[in-house]
Amino acid sequence: EGEAPASRAVLDRYAAIVSQAHANLTALDQLVGDGDFGDNLAGGVRRAVKRNAAGTDGVAALAEAFLNDVGGTSGPLFGLLFQDLATVSWSDDQAPDAGAVADAAKASLDAIHRVGGAKVGDCTLVDALAPATDALAAAASDGSDSPFTAAAEAAVQGALSTASLTPRRGRASYVGQHAIGVPDPGSFGVALLFTALAGVYE
Ligand code: ADP
Ligand code: MG
Ligand code: MG
Repeated sequence: EGEAPASRAVLDRYAAIVSQAHANLTALDQLVGDGDFGDNLAGGVRRAVKRNAAGTDGVAALAEAFLNDVGGTSGPLFGLLFQDLATVSWSDDQAPDAGAVADAAKASLDAIHRVGGAKVGDCTLVDALAPATDALAAAASDGSDSPFTAAAEAAVQGALSTASLTPRRGRASYVGQHAIGVPDPGSFGVALLFTALAGVYE
């Protein structure tokens, strides 16, 4: 038997959380978009699990699956996030360096902004990823014992905050202010990733 691929624990935890959230993510995207976000996220994660079983490290498998196998807007954008996160040195046993994860997340925010144009406040996944990145960087520089928990809390707060925003990017911008009251589904997809990291390492 070969060595367990690094970051398999993160992939498996994320897969479990996403599968539990699938129906709720679908319901949110039905209210403000076209209803496929739950399927896109869960489908991408399922493809990543297959790629991982074939030998690709967990986070790299997420990057490959979302970039190659998932359509919609979330495919390429989550793919960019996982592609940058895959540059970090992951282990199933030890937490990765939180500052390195923060740097990778920041690089992905820049890439996501270049591709999709969204800024903080536009009611997209950026509203979870940006505060999570800031919280992670701050926790890392403070030498916190639980940087991923801090990032997860910030991401969840950010995702919840999108309920009061008018969407300015993506499909939800078509319904504009009628989306007020509905939080952005993609932001929860990001928050669940940081929740998975906190669950694995803390
Ligand atoms: P589609 O609208 O193509 O069906 P998905 O349903 O797969 O896309 O993903 C929707 C999510 O993608 C949204 O909830 C939002 O978080 C994110 N999103 C959409 N457009 C952008 C953008 N320009 N920048 C960042 N995130 C975006
Ligand atoms: Mg959709
Ligand atoms: Mg779609």
